[in-house]
Amino acid sequence: MLCYSHSCHLLQPLLKTHKPLTITFSSQPKPPPRKRPTFDGDQSQRPITRNRHKRSYGASRRSILKTLKQEQVTFTTPVPDDPTVGIIGGGMAGLACALYLEKRGVRSTVFDTGVHGLGGRMGTRIVDPLPLVFDHAAQFFTVSVPRFAELIQGWVEQGLVREWQGTIGELEVGGHFVPLPSSPPRYIGVNGMRPIADSLLSQTHMINVERPTWISKLEPFNGTWYLSENGKPRGQFDAIVIAHNGKCANRLLGSSGLPLIAGQMKRLELSSVWALLAAFEDPLQIPGGDTFPFEGAFVKGVDSISWMANNTKKLLGSQSGGPHCWTFLSTAAYGKRNKVPQENIPTATKEKVTTGMLMGVEEALGLPKGSLQTPFYSRLQLWGAALPTNTPGIPCIFDPHGRAGICGDWLLGSNLESAAISGMALANHIADYFQSGGDHPEEFAVGLRNGFEPIKGHDIGQFPGLEPQSQTHAAPEMQLTT
Ligand SMILES: Cc1cc2nc3c(=O)[nH]c(=O)nc-3n(C[C@H](O)[C@H](O)[C@H](O)COP(=O)(O)OP(=O)(O)OC[C@H]3O[C@@H](n4cnc5c(N)ncnc54)[C@H](O)[C@@H]3O)c2cc1C
Repeated sequence: MLCYSHSCHLLQPLLKTHKPLTITFSSQPKPPPRKRPTFDGDQSQRPITRNRHKRSYGASRRSILKTLKQEQVTFTTPVPDDPTVGIIGGGMAGLACALYLEKRGVRSTVFDTGVHGLGGRMGTRIVDPLPLVFDHAAQFFTVSVPRFAELIQGWVEQGLVREWQGTIGELEVGGHFVPLPSSPPRYIGVNGMRPIADSLLSQTHMINVERPTWISKLEPFNGTWYLSENGKPRGQFDAIVIAHNGKCANRLLGSSGLPLIAGQMKRLELSSVWALLAAFEDPLQIPGGDTFPFEGAFVKGVDSISWMANNTKKLLGSQSGGPHCWTFLSTAAYGKRNKVPQENIPTATKEKVTTGMLMGVEEALGLPKGSLQTPFYSRLQLWGAALPTNTPGIPCIFDPHGRAGICGDWLLGSNLESAAISGMALANHIADYFQSGGDHPEEFAVGLRNGFEPIKGHDIGQFPGLEPQSQTHAAPEMQLTT
């Protein structure tokens, strides 16, 4: 995930939206004046100035209170007949939101920073000319919620997603592998995760995509939201969706006029995970084994590694006799201990972490120290805002006074399914709100004050049906027909 946090600016003061104004904009909207705002602040939406619960997650109490002290923006203009939504973030949640808004007849524009494609943490790296292929964030997923099952069924039919038939299981330190049962089915992108995201909007006609675009400022003006990227106007919208999280989102919301939304975002805590992509000339070995027993494994008892998968087998199966492309993902504890700015990883850290992770692979496989073959290609990446570790446990957040919502995995859990369900839920909620004409906004306020709970699961997310019963709140598993 790209995060330009080092270049975020302080947001400009917001504007007053006292009453409906009718101003006709030319193609270049007039930039909002830079004076101090005076809002007709809605008392029911006054910022919370105390927090009865002891802070348990996320930003400091002082920092949350500062966020909550922002003036609340209140739109009073009527909702137009043909409203349009600006979605900031083109990961699974933002894309699902756009798709479901279209289903409800609502136009949207998805903004995403992705240079190589959409998808966010559904990342696939292809290295030419061989090519080498690696899923470098989301690895696979299970399905537990009927609405997600329907969506995935459609993607299976379109040839974007298929069942992963390869063996996966748990690898105990020393090379002891225990396969997981083949049910529930696990799903992967046919050509990797990112191509799913890049193909999703191909048959839509009410969704515009702007990429790579980094929205750096949100400003309410005359009943609409103005979005811009480093001073360059990026359009005006009747409602906005924040479909990303972490430092970027906190800065964007820092003085946006959405104190309750910003406050909820600040409570979110995220783990850090290192991804080491490595291509080997020869197949990896385990002591005493003639055939390698798995394509993917949750690693147990090794400090630096929580997951390893053979992308070549997973994505190309028997077609490939070529290089063996592996993704190794660190534990969250190792990620935290070795955290550095993800945009600028010092060489010493890169060397230390690469060595540490390759040693962890040896340890997991039970290979003698120093016996793992040297990869002929490797690439190290830090997911500084990898997975949420706490959640408000609500599908979406919506502030009807500010006409702004949040969707993302963290609202429900830590996986692609949660992200998709969240995006769909917010789309339907916004469409219902638009349909109501916006006359009774308070009826549409959702998730603005929910408390957070810790998320259980693997260091790379939740896999309903694959986890011990105690680790998931998910609905019963569901089989798809492929
Ligand atoms: C290492 C790792 C392994 C994982 N493994 C699995 C797995 O095996 N199975 C599973 O189900 N889940 C897994 N996950 C979790 C899964 O990837 C996420 O739950 C899911 O992709 C989140 O989707 P999202 O849309 O909420 O957010 P994201 O995918 O993060 O999307 C947010 C998007 O917004 C963009 N953005 C941010 N700021 C701006 C801005 N200012 N302007 C414009 N765009 C912006 C970002 O670039 C990004 O593209 C893993 C995650 C990681 C990091």
